[in-house]
Amino acid sequence: MRSRFSAYMMKNYEYILATYSPPQRPQLSIKELERSAEGIRWLKLDVLEASQSKQLGTVEFVASYYADSDFYYMHEYSYFEKIDEKWFYVKGLSKDKTGKYCPGRNEQCPCGSGKKFKKCCFT
Ligand SMILES: [Zn+2]
Repeated sequence: MRSRFSAYMMKNYEYILATYSPPQRPQLSIKELERSAEGIRWLKLDVLEASQSKQLGTVEFVASYYADSDFYYMHEYSYFEKIDEKWFYVKGLSKDKTGKYCPGRNEQCPCGSGKKFKKCCFT
């Protein structure tokens, strides 16, 4: 999960595609993944909950990103399955925090720098 988030940040779409579960992969392409992430700057990942059994893993996370001069949360409950000792992304359910948000000027910056928003990414 974290490695997929890092891959999104690094725009490593080959890795993202390779970690989709096998039945989904034929419907996806690197170009498409690239297009869906166009204009997005990923800021931070917060994992709220993670659990795994032998073959199934679930992760609830909130990822924040910046796009078109606005900040957004992507709040998702993701399912992973294990095949040959490797984890693959199966699907994600969008959760209620998903959407636009506006950090307060004196709040911690959503990029995770630890600075106040007004002294960091606020423009
Ligand atoms: Zn910042």
